[in-house]
Amino acid sequence: MARISLRQLLDHAAERHYGVPAFNINNMEQVLGIMAAAAATDSPVILQASRGARSYAGDVMLAKMIEGAEAMYPDIPICLHQDHGNDAGTCLSAIQHGFTSVMMDGSLRADAKTPADYEYNVSVTRHVTEMAHLVGVSVEGELGVLGSLETGKGEAEDGHGAEGALSHDQLLTDPDQAVAFVRETKVDALAVAMGTSHGAHKFSRKPDGAILALHVIRAIHEKMPALHMVMHGSSSVPQELQEEFNRFGGEMTQTWGVPLEEILTGIKYGVRKVNIDTDCRLAMAAAIRKVASTNKAEFDPRAFMKPAITALKDLCKARFEAFGTAGQAARIMPIPLSQMARHYAAGTYDPVVAVANAA
Ligand SMILES: [Zn+2]
Repeated sequence: MARISLRQLLDHAAERHYGVPAFNINNMEQVLGIMAAAAATDSPVILQASRGARSYAGDVMLAKMIEGAEAMYPDIPICLHQDHGNDAGTCLSAIQHGFTSVMMDGSLRADAKTPADYEYNVSVTRHVTEMAHLVGVSVEGELGVLGSLETGKGEAEDGHGAEGALSHDQLLTDPDQAVAFVRETKVDALAVAMGTSHGAHKFSRKPDGAILALHVIRAIHEKMPALHMVMHGSSSVPQELQEEFNRFGGEMTQTWGVPLEEILTGIKYGVRKVNIDTDCRLAMAAAIRKVASTNKAEFDPRAFMKPAITALKDLCKARFEAFGTAGQAARIMPIPLSQMARHYAAGTYDPVVAVANAA
């Protein structure tokens, strides 16, 4: 049994000062590529499924793919996480299908488009946390609305993302409010709005502090050193992948992602989960384009998918190594969810605020 809760995994990451990439999955090839990379580097892994992934593959197929991954790699702790749950029902049905962690994104209303107010966010997130913790499942919350500080807009992905103009205040998590939010909801991890957004077009130039606000991470970390923070939209969109994609007929306009060194700074200040989807999509799509344009007679889907799996594996390996996740799997003994539930009931995981701020 190698399934692990997000809470246990991120506690371990904090203790040993590393970060864990969270890769999105929709199909078997992605599971195979990510798991091969985890095994090759001895890394614990977070596989996350969005609502879009659940409707694409179906809950039963997703659940069985993860069971397959567990059987193939019994030594790799796997956290199965619901990405951007829009309401309690989405989170609970994920738990029914074996997810060990859920994100309740109450920064948006249940339509996954309309920015919500703080009170709504606290109440829906606390509702989910109370239920999930009863069965030992972890919860990620979000405070502040994800979107670009350059354009003042959210970037919808898989039908999830804010619509309309967002103010600077909405786009940056307020550190004091973050402390209050975590205390009121008891979330295990907090997604922070700091200028990262979903999709390939994150920044129109190499980001600096004006458009990628790492100072928010630092300020929250100071107030709550034990809090696990989550960076969404944290693909680096490497230049060479953009070029590879375009060399074989792709038409992606020049873009900048989150530089690796900025992610490493985040990890230094309490970021423990780093969400990466665009890079994985781009690596696979570039490999598929290459086969399609260099071997036009090819019609066996496996000829397209095999190099795509390899490209994904290489990308994931590089992230595991860069974030310090590599070599950690063997150090972790997954705690059963029933035991996690007892810990929650006993208050073991209640939020801790830095002494100077505890008043
Ligand atoms: Zn996200």
